[in-house]
Amino acid sequence: MKDTEVLQSLVDALKCLPGVGPKSALRLAYYLLQRNRKGADTLSQSISNALEQLGHCKLCNDFTEQEVCKICSSQKRDVHTICIVEMPSDLLMMEQTHSYKGMYFVLMGRLSPLDGVGPKEIHLDRLIERIKSSEIREIILATNFTAEGNATAQYIKELLKGAEIKMTRIARGLPMGGEIEYIDSGTLAQAVVERKQL
Ligand SMILES: [Zn+2]
Repeated sequence: MKDTEVLQSLVDALKCLPGVGPKSALRLAYYLLQRNRKGADTLSQSISNALEQLGHCKLCNDFTEQEVCKICSSQKRDVHTICIVEMPSDLLMMEQTHSYKGMYFVLMGRLSPLDGVGPKEIHLDRLIERIKSSEIREIILATNFTAEGNATAQYIKELLKGAEIKMTRIARGLPMGGEIEYIDSGTLAQAVVERKQL
């Protein structure tokens, strides 16, 4: 590869990051090469390690180095309750409340037909299988209080209609349009306690 081609391929690679267009990609490339070669090296190693070692937990779909993650293999959790969240960061927030001891399922997104995200992309087939293959008595829908989060909760509720499982939605101490990732753990803990039956 010619010099310019090497640089161009780095710029093109950086464009895979969300919100990074050609100009910012070029700026990032210059920054890494000129100002922070050590950081760039650590970054490239970390990305390659993460890609190699991290997969999805076969039960909750969160990222893990094991086949089954720590939470799912813990003996101390309530296996009859499952909390459905959009992203791993939401699971972390739920854990920080210390008020929830059940299991999880991480959708890795939310329904968003305009962006091409349908039921398959958020792994609903796996969720249904997960619920069918275990003795779940309560499903807590803890998707965000955004239009898409609400639609996703509604869709899952419809999907499981007829199953004899209690369905609840975390309560709205959360602001409308609110994302779980950005609220304090006290408010989230309260929202879990005050969850409403659907
Ligand atoms: Zn898991």
